[in-house]
Amino acid sequence: MILYHPRLATELAHYGINLPLRDDRSDQVFGLLKKHFPNLAPFDLENLIPICREDIARVHEDGFLKRWWSPEGFLEETLRAYDCQFVASSAVAPLEELRESILRQVSATYTAIEMALEESFCFYLGGGMHHARKSFGSGFCPLNDIVIALKRAQSTGRIKTALVIDTDAHHGDGTAEVTDNDESISTLSIHMAQGWPFDSELPRVNSDVDLPIEKGEESIYLEQLGKGLKSLEHKSFDFVIVVAGADPHEHDELKSTEELKLTKEQMLSRDMMVYKWCQEREMPQLWLMAGGYGEQAPHIYAQFILKVLHLMG
Ligand SMILES: [Zn+2]
Repeated sequence: MILYHPRLATELAHYGINLPLRDDRSDQVFGLLKKHFPNLAPFDLENLIPICREDIARVHEDGFLKRWWSPEGFLEETLRAYDCQFVASSAVAPLEELRESILRQVSATYTAIEMALEESFCFYLGGGMHHARKSFGSGFCPLNDIVIALKRAQSTGRIKTALVIDTDAHHGDGTAEVTDNDESISTLSIHMAQGWPFDSELPRVNSDVDLPIEKGEESIYLEQLGKGLKSLEHKSFDFVIVVAGADPHEHDELKSTEELKLTKEQMLSRDMMVYKWCQEREMPQLWLMAGGYGEQAPHIYAQFILKVLHLMG
């Protein structure tokens, strides 16, 4: 029920893309889990179910995909998605391999859906690229793995309806946009009221349920989340994806998350509230890492996963 492999990390620096992101956070989470569950093993990448261009085309626009699959276009789109500089001299691997790496990560999100359908719960130590929109990547999110994976699962008939619960500090704007006219996928996002998207020219797209938290409103965060979930109780969903960013934590190190400062205990309460809500309704749930930056982030993911692993025995 844990999907992890070191080769599923982004490792952007290999390709000459320099960001203050730690590529080793999934390794660190897995290390923390292994201390309590020494038998946990990395996923066998041979069993990864590959997604194809047709799967991506259900979500992203044709022109974008054509650019994404051409050498110059891919570099341009990648720099836009990561909002960064490309330093060719610092690259130790060709950029083509980054495309493969991103596709592998999206494949892992889909594979994790299959695992969650089998076992009712799966946490993939990766994924959650919730800012990617139909025609461009954004906010460190090159493709919207969440919706690509859900649409693929729908195409196979495994599920009909799904809910995306996004608890990352930043608004799940990409997921809201790509599912805007899609009745089969509902979205809930609880996030900082201010601070995202950076680009004020980007059209604001609402989730089905948006729960903006103003600066200093941490004390009502859990209550608001509870109310948001309650507002969806008249609906049933075949599947839930939780975009479980660790960046609302008070010690997150990304500057743009400073507006929201939940304690470690509040983070665990947040996660357990969502976990139990899905479990009580017998909806299979897949959890994705999304944003989480700095020294403390691995501990935020690990505290929740350990609690679930202990509960599941
Ligand atoms: Zn975030």
